[in-house]
Amino acid sequence: MSQSLRVPIGKDALAAKPRAQGSSLRRARSDLDAESQSHEILARVLEDLEQVAAFSAPGPGVTRLGYTAEDAAARAWFAAECGAAGLEYEADFAGNGFGWAPGARRSKPLLIGSHLDSVLHGGRYDGTLGVCVGLEVARAAVRHGWSYPVGVVAFACEESTRFGFGTIGSRCLMGILSGADLDKVTDREGTTLKDVLLAAGLDPTTGPRIEVDDSFAGAFLEVHIDQGTILAPESGATEYPVGLVTTIVGVSRIRLNWSGQAAHSGARLRSDRHDPLLAAAKFVIEADALWGRHDGGHKDSLAITVGKLDVFPNSPNTVAGQVDLILDVRSTSQKLLDATVASALQLATEIADTGRVRVTSTSLNKGTPVRTDARMIRALAKAATTGSIATKRIPSLSGHDAMVMARRYPAAMIFVGNPSGISHAPTEDLDQDSLRRAIQVILAALPDLSELRDPS
Ligand SMILES: [Zn+2]
Repeated sequence: MSQSLRVPIGKDALAAKPRAQGSSLRRARSDLDAESQSHEILARVLEDLEQVAAFSAPGPGVTRLGYTAEDAAARAWFAAECGAAGLEYEADFAGNGFGWAPGARRSKPLLIGSHLDSVLHGGRYDGTLGVCVGLEVARAAVRHGWSYPVGVVAFACEESTRFGFGTIGSRCLMGILSGADLDKVTDREGTTLKDVLLAAGLDPTTGPRIEVDDSFAGAFLEVHIDQGTILAPESGATEYPVGLVTTIVGVSRIRLNWSGQAAHSGARLRSDRHDPLLAAAKFVIEADALWGRHDGGHKDSLAITVGKLDVFPNSPNTVAGQVDLILDVRSTSQKLLDATVASALQLATEIADTGRVRVTSTSLNKGTPVRTDARMIRALAKAATTGSIATKRIPSLSGHDAMVMARRYPAAMIFVGNPSGISHAPTEDLDQDSLRRAIQVILAALPDLSELRDPS
């Protein structure tokens, strides 16, 4: 096998429009080579994952919150790896790092990547996997002299652990978060995003901005582990299908503040109480019932969660005076998302009235479900079929940088198998065969993905 260009994505291949008669032969060679190269790429991705996992605060699993010292170390590792691989590295004021294969910068490259930060006590694959796959594909482009432009991105602070909402880095890149926003967004300690950036050695005022124009990217691809069991092999099957994400859920988050009257737990009669914790507890149960009424038989996905509750004064012998909770509603349908949020708010008002407490709501994030690029999904599906790799079209039930990138560029996501079915926890897992097949699909799809750059 030739050591030179193994995937026919060079200038010659791009120039060969309409496809030459020899395309079936070239296609066959491409698939064979994509399969063999995927093994090499897998091995290196696994090595990189191991290295990045070491950048973690102490404790179970991986803790690499956005803009902390551990996160900075991971971003520095990424910059060094890009340099060592001969990629052209650049970073912006928000800490997003980019590695461009020679000639790829400003040439509408296929940008592959995800994020390097983690949740508290998370796993080693969420985000990092997508960065490591992008990095290795870009390295392979250099090694094999591909002239098809590819780049890798490591987005900063995608997880919402620190600021209550995520995709901070990609939103900064796309100009969705800028200027005064950086003074308004605060972390759990009340520090503004601007000050957090400054403390991390980044300069939000005069630091580099990357212009996101047409030449910046031709398409964006994010590889991610399955965060649940949506890809679990069906009965009889032994392999995970490669997940092709068709829709990314919109996530709406609302803070509900319940206020009543703090009082002594013994002296205050039951009939005289204004207990916001009781009302909030009823709301948690009724919100779940609301989900239950929508669930089953509905073609669009829905999830309702209350995972954060702050009780004041949070004392065993005091009736609570205030309760803050955050309602998280997500759906692949805008209509269902908005209707569910409206129903939940109505429910909160009714529960507050009967519970003789007050409730106010603040929207933290208004979700917009995003459809991934149908042409990219078709190209990936075609590559999978040619390589006899099973795929499954799935929704993503969590938000990702891809939904931010999709505002401007064709974007798609690939999910790979996670045997534990758990994410955001130390038991997060990766099925290596599934990842290898996903890599094969990407390599084999590169010629078709390249044609997205200049639709004729
Ligand atoms: Zn992620």
